[in-house]
Amino acid sequence: MKIALIPGDGIGIEVIRETVKVLDVVTRQSGCSFEYREVLMGGRAIDETGVPLPQETIDVCKASDAVLLGAVGGPQWDTLPGHLRPEAGLLSLRKALEVFANLRPAVLFPQLKSASTLKEEVLGDGIDLMVIRELTGGLYFGEKKRVDTADGQKAWDTMVYSTHEIERIIKVAFQIARKRSGKVTLVDKANVLESSRLWREVATRLALENKDIAMDYMYVDNAAMQLVRNPRQFDVIVTENMFGDILSDEASMLTGSLGMLPSASIGAGKLGIYEPIHGSAPDIAGQDKANPLATVMSAAMMLRYSFDMENEAVMIENAVRKVLDQGYRTLDIMQPGMKAVGTQKMGELVCKALE
Ligand code: NAD
Repeated sequence: MKIALIPGDGIGIEVIRETVKVLDVVTRQSGCSFEYREVLMGGRAIDETGVPLPQETIDVCKASDAVLLGAVGGPQWDTLPGHLRPEAGLLSLRKALEVFANLRPAVLFPQLKSASTLKEEVLGDGIDLMVIRELTGGLYFGEKKRVDTADGQKAWDTMVYSTHEIERIIKVAFQIARKRSGKVTLVDKANVLESSRLWREVATRLALENKDIAMDYMYVDNAAMQLVRNPRQFDVIVTENMFGDILSDEASMLTGSLGMLPSASIGAGKLGIYEPIHGSAPDIAGQDKANPLATVMSAAMMLRYSFDMENEAVMIENAVRKVLDQGYRTLDIMQPGMKAVGTQKMGELVCKALE
């Protein structure tokens, strides 16, 4: 398997380094082999090539089976014009690789319950849900305009979706659900929005053709409430771009810690981009303080969704659980009575737990 590695900036470099160590243990144990090509994106790419996403990076990523990304950005590049900022590289990469589904699992490990803002009885024995957000359509990409009026201005954005765009992401949701409990909730606003009514029609038709999937529907305002009232009712949530943007952040915060949250962006084929949801954390970069577990678990997602290596993905996730059970914590998830460790030590502990 060919993996394009993009460490990026700040703690991205540190968390990718530890994740590669974990993947090395997987290769030794499973007999598979990973071929890495490290490429530039973000701030370092700007410094060395003048642009946030060099053509070479796009070419290497396209020729790979998956992209494993740390994080990009930092204060030294904040004053550059929008299209030259590190984050522009990320958006362009998603576009170049034609990824249209963003997968954001929200898993609250029982060992980290106290990090959540929710009450013990709501959390039960932990949360494990997946928000799938459409990434390339809807309000963020539809026609937008501003015109002058007699008393000021008028502005509008357009939420546009085609049958094809909805079909392909609902099919992704079904594939993901089959690797979980088989339950999918479509979140929309079909009582008000025409585009939502199309989502519902397409989803209902596909659900009828896929009898192994249990599909239900929820309005977005209710979903926002239900996520904090009873998050354990959800397994896979699929929704359009803006609703997904908001709900995936809400769902992540149920788990309380940025350093524990992986993500994936996938398209029609197997090639995907796997990255933690956190940024480059300039405040702790280079100090061995970053939690590498979000990136380690992004690599587990890569094995599951791009390489069909479910057993190895579960092995990594179990190794993370074991290390948490043993009481080791990086500073962001530190609790009284636990053992504080740095980035490198956390990486080593996961490797040891795997072995
Ligand atoms: P951030 O996620 O980098 O950091 C927010 C806070 O969380 C900081 O206090 C940081 O120390 C902490 N934190 C984040 N990840 C952590 C980890 N793994 N372990 C321990 N603590 C962690 O967000 P920010 O400060 O708003 O942004 C910093 C830079 O990152 C900016 O340049 C921003 O544009 C960029 N950014 C990049 C991405 C990406 O590459 N996908 C995402 C978000 C932000």
